[in-house]
Amino acid sequence: MLTEIADIYVRLSSEDRDKKNITDESESIQNQKTMLIKYCIERGWQINDIYCDEDYSGADSKRPAWNQVLKDCEEGKCTIVVCKTQSRFSRDMEMIEKYIHGKFLEWGTRFVGVVDNVDTNVKGNKKARQINGLINEWYLEDLSDNIKSTLNVKRKNGEFVGSFAPYGYLVDPENKNHLVIDEVTAPVVRRIFDMYIRGSGYIAIAKALNEDKIPPPCVRKKQLGSKYYNGNYEKNHSPTTFWTDSAVYAILRRYTYTGALVQGRQEVVNYKTKKRRNKPQDQWDIIEDMHEPIISKETFFKVQSIRMQRGKGQKIPSGSCYSLAKKVFCGECGNTMWKMSYELRDGRYNYLCCRTRKTAKEHCNNEHSIRLDELEQIVLDEINKLLDDYYDEKAIGKIKAPKKDNNVQKSMVAEIKELEDKIKRNDARMAQMYTDKLDGIITVDEFTCFREKYKRETTEFENRINILTAQLNESGGNKTAQDTKYVLDKYRHIDKLTFEIANEFISKIYIGKIEENGSRNIKIEWKI
Ligand SMILES: [Zn+2]
Repeated sequence: MLTEIADIYVRLSSEDRDKKNITDESESIQNQKTMLIKYCIERGWQINDIYCDEDYSGADSKRPAWNQVLKDCEEGKCTIVVCKTQSRFSRDMEMIEKYIHGKFLEWGTRFVGVVDNVDTNVKGNKKARQINGLINEWYLEDLSDNIKSTLNVKRKNGEFVGSFAPYGYLVDPENKNHLVIDEVTAPVVRRIFDMYIRGSGYIAIAKALNEDKIPPPCVRKKQLGSKYYNGNYEKNHSPTTFWTDSAVYAILRRYTYTGALVQGRQEVVNYKTKKRRNKPQDQWDIIEDMHEPIISKETFFKVQSIRMQRGKGQKIPSGSCYSLAKKVFCGECGNTMWKMSYELRDGRYNYLCCRTRKTAKEHCNNEHSIRLDELEQIVLDEINKLLDDYYDEKAIGKIKAPKKDNNVQKSMVAEIKELEDKIKRNDARMAQMYTDKLDGIITVDEFTCFREKYKRETTEFENRINILTAQLNESGGNKTAQDTKYVLDKYRHIDKLTFEIANEFISKIYIGKIEENGSRNIKIEWKI
């Protein structure tokens, strides 16, 4: 029997934390380590490394040390993973199945939970391990329910439980469950309500605030030292440094400003993914008169009734959207182009203009809007030109010409397939080798030697696949070429641009600013 090479994995869990005070944390980690090292030495196992995650929940597969253990297993640096219990490794049934009952077998890694007697080398232990896993998962769910109900009680008591105060307020330095007025931003809130009542719209208000260089909520949060990070903003490359119409809208809808504490507007759908969803308004926790109001209730309800009235006229009939909806972007700042309509002498026209320009004009120099019907005509002409070219080339037989390329492509695809098969075969051989090594059929030296060979080969195959894939993509790819042909063959000439058609041909359109010579750069990103 060969010597096992062990990775010891320790994790501090919430049970440890609840027990005593914080200073005991490291002690608990130390206890786990001592116990596991002793266990390995008693069995004559060699210790490869000791890994430790200090502050991560069992469900979180992003734990850094945990991932290091998996990497060791995959690379064959260890043959056994030792934990205090299976739940220290993971409380997530999916992870148990994926690794302990899946990948570990493939990698030839044995798993041992010392206290709960888990050992993947013992046959018939699997059922017990699965049951263990389920119990652990229930525990986690239970824990998440406990946290939820604690927060619920606090909310129902009118205690503020958020991580940062709403714009206009600060968390009371003497009581973190209470809000006090932020003298810097409260006047801005009052001004927003006031402007709206006097007839200004969201855009006009945002513009006025930007002109006066008033920091918007995100900036204020940063000033106050909050770690708050708005993922959506980052993703859409939208500006965060100035007021937008939606920021104004959000403030006008906040009942909190009347002195009421409004919480529980969202709930966590799944304790594993931490995904949230909005709750219906009648399920929110609203407790009146919990802090000093910034505006009166009369003002708030007045604004809401104006909002309803103004909103009515602008409603877009549901289900209908214009042909280029969600496809047009500003070529200067990258923000979306907004659709608006103006009344002219000869009728009403739709225009598109840069959203940044509308709310914070110094952040984008794309000052002119573009008429929607004119843009649609330009796009339609481009599509028809594309179709004309395609059918011209087809008529003189040019479309068949790329067939030679097609053969080259075909052989490239075949080579990739072959390489992928070779990699799979190598993986299978590696897996077999682990077993052979465990059974003593091959020595450690032989094992290391073969493993290096297979690894080298696999890397070579992967590199070749990367080169081939890049070449395939450059030559238009195999699938895309067919898709393009399919779309083009469907039409001969298009008279009217619809959303469906635009969607088949176009992914994005960028509208640049009007240059000094009067030209305007309109860049179409084709799907085909
Ligand atoms: Zn712009």
